[in-house]
Amino acid sequence: MARSLLSHLPVLSNSASPLASSLSCAITPSKCFGRHLFVRPEASSFQCLCTLSLSEPAVPETSSSVRKRIVSGVQPTGSIHLGNYLGAIKNWIELQNSYDTLFFIVDLHAITLPYETRQLAKSTRDTAAIYLACGVDTSKAAVFVQSHVRAHVELMWLLSSATPIGWLNRMIQFKEKSRKAGDENVGVALLTYPVLMASDILLYQSDFVPVGEDQKQHLELTRELAERVNYLYGGRKWKKLGGRGGTIFKVPEPLIPPAGARVMSLTDGLSKMSKSSPSDQSRINLLDSKDAIANKIKRCKTDSFTGLEFDNPDRPECNNLLSIYQLVSGKTKEEVAKECQDMNWGSFKPLITDALIDHLHPIQVRYEEIMSDLAYLDGVLAEGAARATDIADATLNNLYQAMGFLRR
Ligand code: ATP
Ligand code: MN
Repeated sequence: MARSLLSHLPVLSNSASPLASSLSCAITPSKCFGRHLFVRPEASSFQCLCTLSLSEPAVPETSSSVRKRIVSGVQPTGSIHLGNYLGAIKNWIELQNSYDTLFFIVDLHAITLPYETRQLAKSTRDTAAIYLACGVDTSKAAVFVQSHVRAHVELMWLLSSATPIGWLNRMIQFKEKSRKAGDENVGVALLTYPVLMASDILLYQSDFVPVGEDQKQHLELTRELAERVNYLYGGRKWKKLGGRGGTIFKVPEPLIPPAGARVMSLTDGLSKMSKSSPSDQSRINLLDSKDAIANKIKRCKTDSFTGLEFDNPDRPECNNLLSIYQLVSGKTKEEVAKECQDMNWGSFKPLITDALIDHLHPIQVRYEEIMSDLAYLDGVLAEGAARATDIADATLNNLYQAMGFLRR
């Protein structure tokens, strides 16, 4: 299997898809010099923040026999919240219909900050069950646990040798998290986390990575690293070593949903909703009870302006709550703007509470069903890991070869 995939990879990485008619650019064609392209897979409104040149394939060719590939994952730390859901998981459900998708639980990332060993395995299963409960369909997507595919860590080591430390020192998330955790005492893994993330993506020759805005910088690093490794070890150098030559890694593009890309904290509209925030009040967890949801919305931060509106920079909490309401109610931004313009917080809060409960309830019911059959869940994860391993090993073998290692 690994061999057949190996021979398949050049086809994957060279497959150029024509510019589809749905391609649209935010900049008028006369002003766009080919560095800004927006991508709309199917009828969805995903935005691709790519910097492709126009001569390169730009739009995912979703109907061809070789589907474009997408990977994404969530850490099994704390509880999955609305930001993870609206910024990532909810979008996967649509993407799995048009792309070759791999969704994993990034347990190796979960140990970058101090964590509870007794909780890790449970959180990993919980997260997998939430993926399925949210609608990830294992007949379409591979669902697996990152640490079950050893190639992730192995590739990370190889990539580390090609990663300038300055790139890692620049990462905003490292700066923020290490400051919070007490600088000198944080584990090295917090610094090298983006290299592991790069290996998560590059192993699978991914075309697109749907991420919230907080991950944009890490994805940019992944792209730079892919290009650097291709340059250092790919092409003719690789061919001389007996490889196929050409690029080793596909350079992935971020796919960022226009709304929900950054769900903000309930207690501070200027910081993102986050698993690692110590205050549970700051987030809606996907498994929160009706009472907990009602209570959190009742106590969330608001303002004292009249009426409710989107996009007022002086009203980050208002924009955040309206955006959440829009996404969970399934209404358009215009509909919500109109519906809520004359409301006060007293009338809006029950509305958003009910919309949240209605949206999350079916997910919670399915979650309970899945968790009551752990043999099924573990089977799904084993199958997903087997599929992922085949693809990952092919990439890893290519890189070992290109880097000149003696192979068994
Ligand atoms: P941590 O605080 O531990 O970093 P997190 O809440 O940021 O946790 P991750 O597991 O790091 O969660 O992220 C999983 C996915 O969820 C990523 O794709 C990330 O971009 C997305 N995501 C996380 N927080 C938000 C948010 N507030 N809004 C939108 N997307 C988010
Ligand atoms: Mn995060």
